[in-house]
Amino acid sequence: MFPIDLRSDTVTKPCAAMRRAMAEAEVGDDVYGDDPTVLRLEEEAAGLLGKEAALYVTSGTQGNLVSLLTHCGRGEGVILGRETHILNFEGGGMACLGGIMPLPADDPSGLPGIPEMEAVLKPADNVHFVRARLVCLENTNNRRGGHASTPREISERAAWAHDRGLGVHIDGARLFNAAVALGVKPADLVRDADSVQICLSKGLGAPMGSLVCASRAFVERARFWRKRLGGGLRQVGIVAAAGLYALRHNIERLAEDHENARKIASILADAGLDVFMAARPTNMVYFRAKDVPSADRILEFCRRERVVFNKSAPDTFRLVTHLDVSAEAALEAASVIARAARSA
Ligand SMILES: *Cc1c(COP(=O)(O)O)cnc(C)c1O
Repeated sequence: MFPIDLRSDTVTKPCAAMRRAMAEAEVGDDVYGDDPTVLRLEEEAAGLLGKEAALYVTSGTQGNLVSLLTHCGRGEGVILGRETHILNFEGGGMACLGGIMPLPADDPSGLPGIPEMEAVLKPADNVHFVRARLVCLENTNNRRGGHASTPREISERAAWAHDRGLGVHIDGARLFNAAVALGVKPADLVRDADSVQICLSKGLGAPMGSLVCASRAFVERARFWRKRLGGGLRQVGIVAAAGLYALRHNIERLAEDHENARKIASILADAGLDVFMAARPTNMVYFRAKDVPSADRILEFCRRERVVFNKSAPDTFRLVTHLDVSAEAALEAASVIARAARSA
């Protein structure tokens, strides 16, 4: 029996049709701009997001880094939420490779509020302070339970940033989850962003790849950074074909993942577990064990029953639903976790 793997929505395997698209992909040398499949993927992604152009990059981390390096120079600052992926899980790339300074703002509801951003934005004409250049917003917000922020919440913050001469970057690793959960167009969520990073390898099920979507001028500058970072690839249409397949077939179905997460959350809550769902939830469920030893027993019990997931803190777990977890598997996993909690 296969394990039910709820560690992340990155664990999906390409389906037969996606593999066929990869096998049959037309390719060329993408550093020469000759790969027709990459060009098509970039064009479709840009179209979906209502941007002029897109750049195919190897990963979400690379997409965010390329974007930050394109927006900011050495010694400049980026305002971003304390619980963002860029700040917590990307190896400090902005500081290490760009000399860019993070300016963390509190983000209790998923995005930093305007007062929280005001609090870290310092006067630019005072030698003591770092000059901020950019605001980064994450949607959905992973560490805040996969919370989906609305077009209005994004626009308000973007207007604040633009009024102060700051750019706006959206880390949209799971932007399509937000769009589907809110019933809005992906483009509505990024209308006021100067750059957006979307992942093909999260909920959309491709084996790799992300896109940076922005104006044509931004993408041309970003292309230099991608090359410097070693992200200029050759016959990469092979994997871009998987990305195209993902964009064409796997967006609407994210609703099933959200429904499965909701069902899991409700079963766990009924079993008396301390469940945390975001205010506008998507494909994640967080829950807490009564203490750390009990958390370890729950994890071990579930692993024996072939249900696997990760801790997000010593006593807290994160479950992520995705296209390789069917509705039945989600119910099965929830019932195993409920039993584990009773015996822990
Ligand atoms: C996964 C993730 C990334 C990075 O993507 P990788 O492809 O793993 O490098 C960036 N931001 C968020 C919110 C993510 O969840």
